[in-house]
Amino acid sequence: MDKLLKESVQYLKGVGPSRVKQLEKLGINTVYDLLTHFPREYENRNNIKKIRDFMVGENVVFIARVSTRPEIRRKGRVFSLTYFYASDDTGRIRVTIFNQPYLNDKLDIDKEFVFYGKVEESKGRFEIVNPVIVEKEKMDSITGFYPIYPLTAGIKNGYIAKLVSELLDKKYVLPEILSTELRKKYNLCEVNFALEQIHRPTKFENIEIARTRLIFEELFLLQLALLSLRNRNFEEKTGIKFEDTEYTEFLKILPFELTGAQQRVIGEIVKDMGSTRPMNRLVQGDVGSGKTIVAALAMYVAVKNGYQATLMAPTTILATQHYEELKKYFSHFGMTCDLLTGSTTPKNKRIILEKLKNGEIDILIGTNALVSDNVEFKNCGLVITDEQHRFGVKQRMKLNAKGENPDVVVMTATPIPRTLALMVYSDLDMSIIDELPKGRIPIKTYVVNETLEERIDKFIAKEMDKGRQVYVVCPLIEENEELDLTDATNVYERYKNEVFKDYSVGFLHGKMKKKEKEEVMQDFKDGKIQMIVSTTVIEVGVNVPNATLMVIENAERFGLATLHQLRGRVGRSSLESYCVLKAKNMGKETRERLGIMVKSNNGFEIAEKDLEIRGPGDFFGIRQHGLPEFKLANLLKDVKLLKLSNDAAKEVLAKDPKFETEENKVLKEELFTKYNEQLVNIGT
Ligand code: ADP
Ligand code: MG
Repeated sequence: MDKLLKESVQYLKGVGPSRVKQLEKLGINTVYDLLTHFPREYENRNNIKKIRDFMVGENVVFIARVSTRPEIRRKGRVFSLTYFYASDDTGRIRVTIFNQPYLNDKLDIDKEFVFYGKVEESKGRFEIVNPVIVEKEKMDSITGFYPIYPLTAGIKNGYIAKLVSELLDKKYVLPEILSTELRKKYNLCEVNFALEQIHRPTKFENIEIARTRLIFEELFLLQLALLSLRNRNFEEKTGIKFEDTEYTEFLKILPFELTGAQQRVIGEIVKDMGSTRPMNRLVQGDVGSGKTIVAALAMYVAVKNGYQATLMAPTTILATQHYEELKKYFSHFGMTCDLLTGSTTPKNKRIILEKLKNGEIDILIGTNALVSDNVEFKNCGLVITDEQHRFGVKQRMKLNAKGENPDVVVMTATPIPRTLALMVYSDLDMSIIDELPKGRIPIKTYVVNETLEERIDKFIAKEMDKGRQVYVVCPLIEENEELDLTDATNVYERYKNEVFKDYSVGFLHGKMKKKEKEEVMQDFKDGKIQMIVSTTVIEVGVNVPNATLMVIENAERFGLATLHQLRGRVGRSSLESYCVLKAKNMGKETRERLGIMVKSNNGFEIAEKDLEIRGPGDFFGIRQHGLPEFKLANLLKDVKLLKLSNDAAKEVLAKDPKFETEENKVLKEELFTKYNEQLVNIGT
């Protein structure tokens, strides 16, 4: 990228220190950031009209002369009003301007100006308040499609528009990363045409042409980055070949039979393990589909072949749970298993690290504590990440680097349509567990409003009296009157001290110390606590099969993905389970959205329905998938371009896998600037 583009915005005219800070809030630090701060929409200012044809309420552009001397009124020291009439050959309109007394010097009588604003009516006359006024020579700057930018407090749209426009006038250009050939083939315009047109479109059609080009570019770079990661995995043929991929012995000690989907997926995994090519596999499975045991089987195979294996989970609670569940299986085969988290004592940690290094530990389960530098394996052959969307690409890469080209499995419960996943995760092979264990009864889900509180309390009591356990999840910990959220503390106190005095009620929230959280969770698992009131910290993966009721307060505040994950905490056995979604002020959309939860227990289906109602909102938020954010592209809306960019990336890589040709020089540079971190991390 050109040096000029990397320059800080602070050197631009009109950008002082306080502006620098404001711009930073918009993610704008450099000239490049500013140029690629794209409009979110446009105001159509092509409606050039004669005054006679004005209609009240419409936005118009018109050319008129100042026909009466501007009259200024001051109210107090800071407030001024300017009035005058503007006329063309068809009529006149009153113009009112607030607080811009400096304009008065320019508004010479009979001089022509171009105005833009909204026609209003006052006492039977046309009036326009605070219009944009420019001299006739500058007409182009206000007609056409006017860009509306994403803004932040203190920054006005006109300010950004002007800064960007000045850069474009000064002929700042972006590097062209797409060859003429590619542009022709995919029908894309040149990058600087796109840049100019997205900010200052001369025709409506050009906005789309520009956006298409720029979105393609974003997606194309992502695809290239992912695909070249994948290529590198193919090339390094030094991966481990696990000779013995037999795991039936392990199945014999399980208290259940694998589902067909689990069998298929473990089959896919061991097939990869048995080949010399390093495995890179994503396992997608809805909540409760039984991913953990699949991970365990793979680790078993690795250890059987004389290697170590490791499993990383996003929270201590989860890591501990995996450890508790799996160690009994491993010990059956004389395999040693240990747990490393942020709450492991220094002394224990030292012992674990020592044992790990000399190979006395076969399987290490933990949190991101596993990633730290002093964690050294003797010979790690398999690395598994659970709930991978909770980790950044970087953390995953770091863990993978703990072995010498180990086989890698990442697991996720975030549903994403298959076509999309194939491209978003194009550096990974995919396995899908699309079946729940037998005997699972769909969770009965109800949507209720506050008036039913008492009945719900009775229902909760009934479940607990049957010996079952209950979760109550609230959106926040502390009172926030502004948002009127039911506060978890209040709920907890009401249940503990009033409604369920005779039961044991626990409290779990994000501000507790790790250790405290673990204790509460452990007590819940052990059945010492019957009800747990919690914020969303219990969201992922927690497994307490005896819990059969999930009550969610202010359910309307949660996205469906989260609700589905939360609901997945119950229905983890053959016991009938329930989910109660409490909502306040239910509008049509809320009703419809929560209705989806009532009708479906399938994460993929819920994702799709949610999409139909809300459009591609946060549901597939990029962050959830540990991928970079885009400026323009939307992975769901732009599926077509995603597919095309995927094709194009494959073509480029097929011809020039290492970006060595002159033609791809600029492309390579751009790729490194944007995806530096990921590519560097794996030793490019
Ligand atoms: P998730 O895919 O959400 O991580 P888990 O691996 O935690 O799901 O499994 C959920 C529960 O289902 C666990 O209690 C697990 O022991 C159990 N389970 C897994 N596979 C089966 C199966 N094939 N049959 C019955 N129960 C199973
Ligand atoms: Mg899980």
